[in-house]
Amino acid sequence: MTYLGKNSNNIRIVMINTSHPGNIGAAARVMKNMGLTRLYLVNPKQFPNYEATAMASGADDLLSQAKVCTSFEEALEGCHLVLGTTARERKIQHEFIGAREAGELSVDESASHEVALVFGRERTGLTNDEIGLCHKLINIPTNPDYSSLNVASAVQIVTYEVMMAFQALTIDDHQKVQSSEVEAEVEKFASSENMERFYEHLQETLIDIDFLRVKQSPQLMPKLRHIYNRVRLKQEEVNILRGILNKTQRLKK
Ligand code: SAH
Repeated sequence: MTYLGKNSNNIRIVMINTSHPGNIGAAARVMKNMGLTRLYLVNPKQFPNYEATAMASGADDLLSQAKVCTSFEEALEGCHLVLGTTARERKIQHEFIGAREAGELSVDESASHEVALVFGRERTGLTNDEIGLCHKLINIPTNPDYSSLNVASAVQIVTYEVMMAFQALTIDDHQKVQSSEVEAEVEKFASSENMERFYEHLQETLIDIDFLRVKQSPQLMPKLRHIYNRVRLKQEEVNILRGILNKTQRLKK
């Protein structure tokens, strides 16, 4: 028996700037196969589109419920864990995990937080700025000489691992994660929106104290994001850091 539970609703698939509507449809189909329903499309090139509907087969309900967003930030609203997927490693050292670990982590987190699994453009993948909004990156091992998967195939592999991780939960785990008592005990990680506000505040303060000149040191903020994303701050911790930033700004005036 499969135990998907209501927490699968806390896991969303975000596709960025997809060129081929057929890929959106194919992704919707595999999502529905794997028990996921929430699809977010950031500036899709053509949507809605008959090719998407044709490729979705019986999953056109996911397409009609899909949320079309005008920015990546909008697609991440309410998310506390953001996992990006990428075919290649980047200059900035980001933490990479495999699809299996990503499935397990997503299922664990879905008990108390919203999770985004993010897929990039067919040709160019995710931009460095988009990677900066991800806590970890998922890489699916492939032939090094031919490493780039079709985006819907990547969605298939990652969502299969999500399904496997849900299946691995016992009935006890399901009762536990669905009980509101446990929810109350879970310390809340900061949401993507609140992390963005923190980064804006941090950048503003670093400029105020003449530590940062954006043009001269374009890599500083991405590096700082990387540090904080690795740690994954709780909301209470963000409040403390913002308190320090407020005080620093007041002293500088
Ligand atoms: N050159 C691009 C390839 C884009 S392929 C890049 O470096 O990422 C389109 C999308 O499919 C990617 O953005 C990613 O979301 C997914 N994808 C393709 N191959 C993948 C792989 N080996 N591991 C993880 N995701 C992959």
